[in-house]
Amino acid sequence: MFGYTNYLQKLIEQLSKLPTIGLKSAERMALHILKSPQQQARALAEAIINAKHNTKKCQECNYFSEAELCPICKDKDSREKVICVVEDPQDVIAIERTGRYKGLYHVLWGKLSPLEDIGPKDLPLNQLLARIKQDKINEIIIATSSSREGETTSLYLKQLITPFGIKVSRIARGIPVGSNIGYIDQATISEAFEGRREVNS
Ligand code: ZN
Repeated sequence: MFGYTNYLQKLIEQLSKLPTIGLKSAERMALHILKSPQQQARALAEAIINAKHNTKKCQECNYFSEAELCPICKDKDSREKVICVVEDPQDVIAIERTGRYKGLYHVLWGKLSPLEDIGPKDLPLNQLLARIKQDKINEIIIATSSSREGETTSLYLKQLITPFGIKVSRIARGIPVGSNIGYIDQATISEAFEGRREVNS
């Protein structure tokens, strides 16, 4: 196709599977790689393989980690006894980038979605409850997305945590409907945290 050689076509195919990368961009990237020194292309390939091979989930919060505990959980004694519940690991990166939040996280790697057949048992909720008890957590901040499924997950979490008698809050609106915080600018995330409201049952 389009005069591509065999391996060039394979490279373009793989690159175009990446988010936001269309065929044109994939072609530009592939040609850049082919024109670059051997060593540079190898370093790129190795970075991908190493990152994938050595990254697992933190045993406490499910965020990315290269050891049993991620750097945030390892440092938990110096963090506030607050857990922010998010859908995706990229949300942790976005919130950390604001530099305002000093608590811990719990990554769900998804949200309740009856349509996709994702129920409470498919999310690491028992693990969250165990952490609340074990680490004497005094507030849960729910930062699931503002989509319908994100709201459903938020309500479910509120009901689940209420018996523990701790504060449960939801980050403020201001995050566009349906958005993941991983894609929102820092100022908006900071405002959403500062304007968080206690969830009333
Ligand atoms: Zn962790």
